[in-house]
Amino acid sequence: MKKLQFLALAILSLIFAACGDSNSTSTEQHEHFEVEGWRLYSAEWDTLYSVYRGKEDSKLPGLKVNANCMSAHIHVKFLDENKKEIAGPSDDEHSLGWDVGDSKILDIHFEGGWGFHLKGLKKGETTLILKVKHHDHADAKTPEIKVVVDKALDADKCPFQEDEDDPSTSSGTEHEHEGGNHNHEHDHE
Ligand SMILES: [Zn+2]
Ligand SMILES: [Zn+2]
Repeated sequence: MKKLQFLALAILSLIFAACGDSNSTSTEQHEHFEVEGWRLYSAEWDTLYSVYRGKEDSKLPGLKVNANCMSAHIHVKFLDENKKEIAGPSDDEHSLGWDVGDSKILDIHFEGGWGFHLKGLKKGETTLILKVKHHDHADAKTPEIKVVVDKALDADKCPFQEDEDDPSTSSGTEHEHEGGNHNHEHDHE
């Protein structure tokens, strides 16, 4: 009997150990980020997409980009169980993840934080699932969000132009949004 208890304890501690990274003593960091909904905003803070408890708001414009173009920045916010908007977690254990339905049509440009850009590759329609990644699992996930990739435009005709004044930094292109900080607060209620 003793042996069994010990075994159960060992298994339990194993489960807990698996969740955390060694050095931290704070339990708060290992908490799951549980949300009931997602809200996506344009760079100008117009609501593009919203889903709450699996129900999408069909009155919103949705996600769109032209092929050969990159969209302006899209902000990601969350809705808690009271449908109150909250920001993404600021610890380094949670990060934005995604699955693109057809990677020939759409790509995602990600600079860290709770936001991203759509990159249209080919005219068509596909889906995007956004996730809150936490260690080896996802704490939250959107349904399949429809993304429309409209006709290809010449790079100089794209509605959103990236700053290309520094050709030395090929990846991780820095551009200004809200002073470079994605995690800013705003009053939207
Ligand atoms: Zn988690
Ligand atoms: Zn951006």
